[in-house]
Amino acid sequence: MQVPFYGHVRQYRNIQAEIDANMKEVLESGQYVMGPMLKRFEKEFAAYSGTKHAIGVGNGTDALWLVFMALGIGPGDECITTTNTFFATAEAIWIAGATAVFVDSDARTNCIDPAKIEAAITPRTKALVPVHLYGQCADMKAIREIAAKHKLFVVEDNAQAIGARGDGFRIGELSDAACTSFIIQKNLGTFGDGGAVVTNNAEIDRVVRKLRNHGSDKRSCHSYGFNSRLDDLHAAVLSAKLKHIDEMNAMRRKWAARLTAGLKDAKNFTLPYETPGYYHVFHLYVIETRKPEWRDQLLGFLNDHGVDAKCHYNIAIHQQEGYPWGKGARIVGPIPNSERNAGCCISLPMFPELTEQEVDYTIEKVLAWDRQVS
Ligand SMILES: *Cc1c(COP(=O)(O)O)cnc(C)c1O
Repeated sequence: MQVPFYGHVRQYRNIQAEIDANMKEVLESGQYVMGPMLKRFEKEFAAYSGTKHAIGVGNGTDALWLVFMALGIGPGDECITTTNTFFATAEAIWIAGATAVFVDSDARTNCIDPAKIEAAITPRTKALVPVHLYGQCADMKAIREIAAKHKLFVVEDNAQAIGARGDGFRIGELSDAACTSFIIQKNLGTFGDGGAVVTNNAEIDRVVRKLRNHGSDKRSCHSYGFNSRLDDLHAAVLSAKLKHIDEMNAMRRKWAARLTAGLKDAKNFTLPYETPGYYHVFHLYVIETRKPEWRDQLLGFLNDHGVDAKCHYNIAIHQQEGYPWGKGARIVGPIPNSERNAGCCISLPMFPELTEQEVDYTIEKVLAWDRQVS
């Protein structure tokens, strides 16, 4: 049996009629850039997020640095985040001209550990940039409190957790802005690249809207800006998929629960942790081998048996080529949790359109490896 890592075409087939109808509407309207479909999707996405504003942009990386720029964050400023995330979190800080400062992640959630943040704050610190890693919210209440005490901005990297919630908070509620990615492999994915910023701050909304469109909010008038727009064809796909995102996340949770139940007695790896009261949307289902030398062993075993497991992210940001890229990025304090996470993580196949047989086959193969090690 082959268990794929992604189900893009299965997902398309499930809601093909709705996606095709929306795309046809755009194609026949003749309005493909900044047209009515983009406006419609922005409205729908703001409503879904529970925020006042949503701005479609070219991708998730742009969403982040356009917000940094709108907040006036640039050279000489520092943003605090983690190293065990997709590269783009730090890349966006770098593009803005600012300096990334890394602290350790929480041992169980792998999101930024709020207890490590204050030691990294300097007079240059401008923002905290928590990542809702693998589909679970970081501890936003604690992060918000630290930010308020030190008068810092909070920008959420929500590329992985659309639809996730914390205990009594939603993404975009306790921050200045939350930035998301709609690249195909994310929980809400278009057929290509896309991204969005959600915010309750009218000024951030105004400035990001302007920046994404050549610094223009009035025809023929420009201040500095960029070109980073969400195309109407992508908005069409996303508008159709948004209607199903809660069901799709529920399916991810169903498969996660099945994996966890099937794997709970295994000895040689740990399972994903869900913070009590949180709603994890399992963008990824990540287990960690108890020894780093076992990671490639298990990954190879699964791949050899047809289970397309992968690693997210086996090379942490501070281990990437060229680090710290000329802007003095630095790590504050030891980061054993981020290092362990990078060294031991394996992502099992996780997408809404998996079948019970595929999930059970994955469990069977992971357990076969586990018995072989013990
Ligand atoms: C995917 C991702 C991004 C970047 O999104 P793009 O749309 O690929 O630019 C940023 N941060 C995290 C955590 C991501 O997973």
